[in-house]
Amino acid sequence: MNNTPLRLLIHGASGRMGQALLRLAAEDSSLEVVAAVVRRSPPQRVIDGVPHFAAGELGSVPVFDVAVDFSLPEGFDPVLALCLQRRAGFVSGTTGISAMQQAALADAATRIPLVWATNFSLGVAVLADLVERAAASLPGWDCDIVESHHVHKKDAPSGTALTLGAAAQDGGADPRYASLRAGDIIGEHLVQFTGLGERIELVHRATSRDIFARGALHAARQLNGRTPAFYRVRDLVAPAD
Ligand code: NAD
Repeated sequence: MNNTPLRLLIHGASGRMGQALLRLAAEDSSLEVVAAVVRRSPPQRVIDGVPHFAAGELGSVPVFDVAVDFSLPEGFDPVLALCLQRRAGFVSGTTGISAMQQAALADAATRIPLVWATNFSLGVAVLADLVERAAASLPGWDCDIVESHHVHKKDAPSGTALTLGAAAQDGGADPRYASLRAGDIIGEHLVQFTGLGERIELVHRATSRDIFARGALHAARQLNGRTPAFYRVRDLVAPAD
């Protein structure tokens, strides 16, 4: 049995998700964060035993197995390029990336194992499945997706709303979107199917960011050592062969 910890690079380490990733990784002896990357110069070189680097210093980070990126679209390209250069795995939850960045991901997946997902929670994976089934069973009904997030969230509709919308389209619906930005809401998604005189509401509420961070760390563990491909979260639920 291999007891060597998986060497992680956490990109976007000072953000809300980055902080959750660092905290959860520190509690897990199978993981070692060898580099935490923040946008600007870090206040200290080593924080809680984890070496910190500025985004401009990506080229000098030590050897790592998988990068976990929860940053913003402007930070996405350099960390993907680094993973390609180092032949490392790439786990990204960064939302709001452009069509060009999506294409770069698909291209990178021919050379490294990677997963990019708008939501790493198990509940949302199940919700997407329910939405597709409801859409397929309710032809002609209106389908509306209402998402609510904290006031700091930049992209709208949320990446998760778009993922749920794609599931609704797969079932034959034509979804519309509405976005609310209020207070400190971590993330709520309501998918509503409305017919004549009746309505179905499917709702997911995140009450802790840890669900996304745990899912991303699980994905990193499962991705390590896989052949290059664009994996989905649900591909990584089962242990690697
Ligand atoms: P945040 O604003 O708290 O953190 C963003 C982090 O990215 C900060 O540390 C910032 O310094 C860093 N950053 C910004 N520009 C950068 C650059 N050019 N280079 C390097 N780092 C840079 O945001 P958050 O709430 O932690 O969310 C981060 C991302 O994760 C967002 O895109 C959000 O939508 C997404 N998210 C995804 C999931 C999921 O499950 N897929 C869940 C929650 C959040």
